[in-house]
Amino acid sequence: MTVAAGFDLGGTQLKYGLVDEKGTILLKDKVDTPKGIQDLIALFGRVYRELRAKSPRPVAAVGFGIPGTYDLRRKRILQSPNYPALDGYDLDPALAREIDVPFQVDNDANMAAYGEWVAGAGRGVESLVLLTIGTGIGGGLILGGSLWRGRCGYGGEIGHIIVRPDGERCACGLQGCLETEASAPAIVRKYQALAGRPEEVTAEEVYRRAKAGEEAARGAFAQAGYYLGIGLGIVINLLNPAKILLGGGVMTTGEFLLEPAVAEARNRSYRQSFACVAVERAALGNDAGLIGAAAWARANRD
Ligand SMILES: [Zn+2]
Repeated sequence: MTVAAGFDLGGTQLKYGLVDEKGTILLKDKVDTPKGIQDLIALFGRVYRELRAKSPRPVAAVGFGIPGTYDLRRKRILQSPNYPALDGYDLDPALAREIDVPFQVDNDANMAAYGEWVAGAGRGVESLVLLTIGTGIGGGLILGGSLWRGRCGYGGEIGHIIVRPDGERCACGLQGCLETEASAPAIVRKYQALAGRPEEVTAEEVYRRAKAGEEAARGAFAQAGYYLGIGLGIVINLLNPAKILLGGGVMTTGEFLLEPAVAEARNRSYRQSFACVAVERAALGNDAGLIGAAAWARANRD
């Protein structure tokens, strides 16, 4: 048995752990992240050495799931809206000074999709789409039994499929992306518009109000679910996947988002294709990214 380490970098926290060959977590923890790039690299090194010291067996490989678009040819993050310090930074040489075993870097949603595929709700299927719906919307694809990264590494950006051509401007620069219509901040904006007041609330609070029967809160989820369904319909027609897994913080809000999304996906995809896809909740929660990063690094170590 070998052990691999997985890192999942978020906007404010780094989740990390040791993962065995079956995708089981041996230990995990999380730490707040510094904003500066040098401090972040030093943190990676410190956590790696800590994991190495605690590991029951030698750490064979280390995987990093990083928010943003990772260019496979230039081996660097080109755009990281949630971690701007990474933009354009030459990550690999810096990591090589800290990590003394083979390591891999990839997009965090790709790593989460890989994690669900090796150890979660997507185990054993040959095609899988993962959407993580939270502050943003991440996407990852398993096609033909392997992770689909695209030619340059930008594949699977389902959050930036256009679902509303006249919609709001997205942080990515496009207009009317799925992310601007169905992420947690989008649900809050829709709620504020429907309620007719600019009250500062979280998506969780909107969910509580929806459960309590508030019309504007239910309407916000219905609208977000409608656009999510348009996105799912596009994905279903394009790929005819075996499974679509929905994960991320917003999915804890349950049927208020899922039901209208599935209904709209049915309206907007080929009947035959819709009939053969299973739309399910992702299984690994916040652990998907670090499990996937560890498994990916192990599978691809030199
Ligand atoms: Zn976008």
